[in-house]
Amino acid sequence: MGAHISVPMYQRTVPQRYRLVANACTQCGAISFPPKATCPQCSVGREFTPVELKGTGVVYTYTVIAGGGAPPEFTAQARSRGRYPVVMVALDEGPKVVGQLVDCDPEDIRIGMRVRAVMRRIYVEEEVIRYGFKFRPA
Ligand SMILES: [Zn+2]
Repeated sequence: MGAHISVPMYQRTVPQRYRLVANACTQCGAISFPPKATCPQCSVGREFTPVELKGTGVVYTYTVIAGGGAPPEFTAQARSRGRYPVVMVALDEGPKVVGQLVDCDPEDIRIGMRVRAVMRRIYVEEEVIRYGFKFRPA
């Protein structure tokens, strides 16, 4: 969790971080996110069409992270805000993605509630502001 990401590697992943761009397999049509070299659905597809995801979906499962268990990129925020929820969201297009849930009390989270992805600044490293998506109630 939270492995160090070098600047060049980060820059290669910027399109996926600024927009939720997934791959649609030209063999079977399955949508994968984050994009992978081989289609995880049919295991033979290696060519893909980029698909921009709407960023809407439902909470599939969630957990509430308290200070000590946070991945490194979240520790500053964990220290300043205490505990915060992390949700796995089943996007409307199919892929499941993990992100922080903001603007929602942990007590109010329900499996199946509709959420929407928003771009937020997450942390600064090597003088580069790292953005990522978070979710908020839709
Ligand atoms: Zn496929």
